[in-house]
Amino acid sequence: MVGGSYAVRRIYQVDSHTLGIDWTDGVVGRWRLAELRRHCPCAHCVDEWTREPRLDPTTVSDDLTAKGIESVGRYALRVVFADGHDAGIYTHALLRELDRAQASRK
Ligand SMILES: [Zn+2]
Repeated sequence: MVGGSYAVRRIYQVDSHTLGIDWTDGVVGRWRLAELRRHCPCAHCVDEWTREPRLDPTTVSDDLTAKGIESVGRYALRVVFADGHDAGIYTHALLRELDRAQASRK
């Protein structure tokens, strides 16, 4: 299945705690790295079958930074967090969803 009609134009760090993505459809995404870490979709952090979170969000520092961000194919990103966790593959669809979730909390 092909995703929505958007792709990543540019990935950058807005500041040491914030990831930014400019999408080709004009949307500008912002994610606190700590929030991304708390929503890590990997099998360590979320039960693969029940989708129940296995990560206690209070164990993630609000000041979490990243050591690196890399593209995985054309559909996802991998974030290497400063706490050493790098197993999460964030699909573009998930990133868009998390960005909306943050926006609705403001
Ligand atoms: Zn994880």
